[in-house]
Amino acid sequence: MNINKIQSKSIINKSNLPFSNLCINPYVGCMHSCLYCYATYMTMYSNHKNEKWGSFVDIKENAPDLLKIYLSKNSLKGNIVIGSVTDPYQPIEKNEKITRQILEILVNQQNQLSIFNDSFKISIITKSELILRDIDILKNFNNLNIFMSICTNDDKMSKIIEPLASRPTKRINALSILKENNIKCGALISPYLPYITDYNILFNLLYDKIDFIYSEPINISGNIKHFVLDIYENYLNINNILDTINNKEYWLNINKQFDNLCQKYKVTKI
Ligand code: SF4
Repeated sequence: MNINKIQSKSIINKSNLPFSNLCINPYVGCMHSCLYCYATYMTMYSNHKNEKWGSFVDIKENAPDLLKIYLSKNSLKGNIVIGSVTDPYQPIEKNEKITRQILEILVNQQNQLSIFNDSFKISIITKSELILRDIDILKNFNNLNIFMSICTNDDKMSKIIEPLASRPTKRINALSILKENNIKCGALISPYLPYITDYNILFNLLYDKIDFIYSEPINISGNIKHFVLDIYENYLNINNILDTINNKEYWLNINKQFDNLCQKYKVTKI
């Protein structure tokens, strides 16, 4: 693993995710190395153009200072997602604590605002149980959503397709603990992987631990296609997965199933 400490130029950027307009990414790259990762395009915007996604991480060691400078010049507002193109709780966070420092700054800033101020919302996306370390800070946010990303309940499959992320059983357990601590949590079923993701099983395991749910289909643009084909051919012996992925009728049925399960389990769809 190629690990570097870098001085980043900015810390809050625009986000195109449906539930946020701003993002904070404490790292460049992600040790979790998910084979289907949509963020692999980030290699083009880093100093790692010819390196494999998952083989490098840049630690933005000046991220806390940049955030303090940003907040001294700008008011805290908008829907800010932490971890749009990296996992803020990937293994290196255990020692580096960049995400933890960012949260401390944000919660301090919140506490200086009027208690009636709800101009900003924080969302955190992760596939790691390491988020439990920061419960002491997370509990102090007025407007926080945790998105636990999970696309399968199968720990063995997860080990293949998301090698260094926490296994799904650990993520589900983390959701239970977050819920016990009254922290608002949801599931991010992203991506939905045909023949791997099972909505019925996931809803049954998750419904009493989450307040909301979001799902999106696998994206096979760019070099992700090559990795996705690899998963299906090598691990599931499916050679024609593109027929399914490109079948509009298939996705209409999947969406219908998702909507029905949201209703059945009374989980808010985002
Ligand atoms: S955890 Fe998220 S950012 Fe990291 S490799 Fe997996 S999908 Fe990509």
